[in-house]
Amino acid sequence: MFIYKRLVESQRTDLQIDIFERSSQLGAGMPYSKAGACSEHVTNVSGNEIPELVTSLPEWIKNQPVDQLKPFQLDPSTISPYRVVPRLLFGQYLAAQFDLLQQQALVRGVDTQVHLNCPVIDIRDEPDRQQTWVQTTDQHWHCFDKVIICTGHYWPIRHEGKVPHYFDSPYPPTKLAHTFNHPVAIRGASLTAIDAIRTLARHNGHFEADATDRLTYHRAETSPDFKLVLHSREGLLPAIRFHLEEPLISQDDQLSPEMIAANRQQNQGFLSLDFVFEKAFKDAFRQKDPAFYARIRNLNLEDFVEQVMAMREQQDPFVLFANEYQQAEQSIHQRQSIYWKEMLAVLSYALNYPAKYFSAEDMQRLKTVLMPLISIVIAFVPQSSARELLALYEAGLLTLIPVGGDSEVIAHPQGGATYQYLDAENRPQSVYYHTFVDCIGQPHLAFEEFPFKSLLTGKTISPARLQYQSDEQGRAACQQGQEGVELSTDGKYYLKVPGLAINDDFQVVDQQGQPNPRLYIMAVPHIGGYNPDYSGLDFAEAASDRIGHRLLTDNPKA
Ligand SMILES: Cc1cc2nc3c(=O)[nH]c(=O)nc-3n(C[C@H](O)[C@H](O)[C@H](O)COP(=O)(O)OP(=O)(O)OC[C@H]3O[C@@H](n4cnc5c(N)ncnc54)[C@H](O)[C@@H]3O)c2cc1C
Repeated sequence: MFIYKRLVESQRTDLQIDIFERSSQLGAGMPYSKAGACSEHVTNVSGNEIPELVTSLPEWIKNQPVDQLKPFQLDPSTISPYRVVPRLLFGQYLAAQFDLLQQQALVRGVDTQVHLNCPVIDIRDEPDRQQTWVQTTDQHWHCFDKVIICTGHYWPIRHEGKVPHYFDSPYPPTKLAHTFNHPVAIRGASLTAIDAIRTLARHNGHFEADATDRLTYHRAETSPDFKLVLHSREGLLPAIRFHLEEPLISQDDQLSPEMIAANRQQNQGFLSLDFVFEKAFKDAFRQKDPAFYARIRNLNLEDFVEQVMAMREQQDPFVLFANEYQQAEQSIHQRQSIYWKEMLAVLSYALNYPAKYFSAEDMQRLKTVLMPLISIVIAFVPQSSARELLALYEAGLLTLIPVGGDSEVIAHPQGGATYQYLDAENRPQSVYYHTFVDCIGQPHLAFEEFPFKSLLTGKTISPARLQYQSDEQGRAACQQGQEGVELSTDGKYYLKVPGLAINDDFQVVDQQGQPNPRLYIMAVPHIGGYNPDYSGLDFAEAASDRIGHRLLTDNPKA
């Protein structure tokens, strides 16, 4: 939708746009339709954090008939730009926005063909004829000058369907809307896990709110043994939504293209992660929070992460969660940011786009040092979800087990799975669960998992990889047999990272390093190596800006 908006707004009447959509509607996509939500699921962003579409979310909601809002128990008079909303309602909003864009296109003379219930099954590129072909399920091939792949979320199925009560993801969540009269194991403790929890809790009991909106949870008579057992790295829970001072992050705010270029020039072509940490994080505190700056000014990335993690790990995760809930309430009430958390979100956003210029060494630091912290702190659990988690915990029905990277989940052919991990005293544990739900979130998919096979066989696309800055380190990693490390034909050592190689304008890059002027991709699961942070709508807006600009300037109106 964001790319379509750019094209419609370009005032170009020489464009003919075809949209192929697997489902029966445009706009809602996976997270905001039944494929990814039930009525209990809420967005993790509020109206003021959504990049501009046609009408604003609060304005749209206020104009909806009461009957449409009834299923969501939403009173339009309580709507404000600062509130999160039910995801299915948000999907309706997005679908309505897509409709409005189509109407604008019609008025502006932009020809749009929409193909609903029409999955694309393959894509083929023909450089000699400068054409790209798209194959749909009816086996028909459609020819285009440009193709933009926006296929979005995808969870590979490994055991689900074959192993009873084993779920590779909680989506679509209706599959969890059943009685589970036993402990349910959940891998992950962040937003995806919360989606599973909200559905499972409702179908095995109910929440009751008191006058202050504090919740209690009561198990159903049919589920006397229902429990939820979360498993997370280091036993940490995510942070809670607070007031954002700058709800719409911009890439250039902290790290302009000029700054990136200058740093790469001084650093053998690589962007330094330390530089990004200084500029897109630490420097922001000089003016905004000098006291915090004084505390962190001499810390490097590793020291900073260690201090924050240690602070979290020293506290019981549910006590910390309850405290952070209070802090977040205060932040929202007083419209005052928790600045260091906001800045971590900014950092995460800032390092996403130029990540392709990191050395292999810095990417490994990013993944092992910074990402574990970022993924906890910027998950932003909505308030209503936090209240439900606390109610389940207080009812003694929600526990959290810390597991390390070496833990393993083994699917049981008869159903469920065995969770193997080392406990706090390093003793091996092996626990069988009748039901297991994998909630680790959208995985970064490997290059080989790319669905449009003719682009692989035709060598139109290439795997994403990052060069080692130090030959010595690359050689050592290669000799130790480290996964994904290879000596290339150019005599340099590289680390293979997930997904396809892309350039700054999201064009796919072939094995010779040449960007393809016809083919763009903004489907996040397939570009996770060069785009490691899965941002939401803010990413869609920023990526569509790059793509739209490149596409339109490369092809000026005749
Ligand atoms: C559960 C969940 C909740 C989220 N909540 C938020 C949130 O609150 N706020 C936020 O900013 N971000 C959120 N996100 C992040 C999310 O990535 C973005 O907000 C956004 O939905 C991504 O849009 P997309 O178009 O890239 O992908 P999708 O929404 O997945 O849309 C892809 C579309 O492509 C279609 N499609 C797929 N394959 C084919 C094919 N082969 N042929 C034709 N059509 C195809 C699908 O049917 C779908 O309509 C959430 C993500 C998840 C998974």
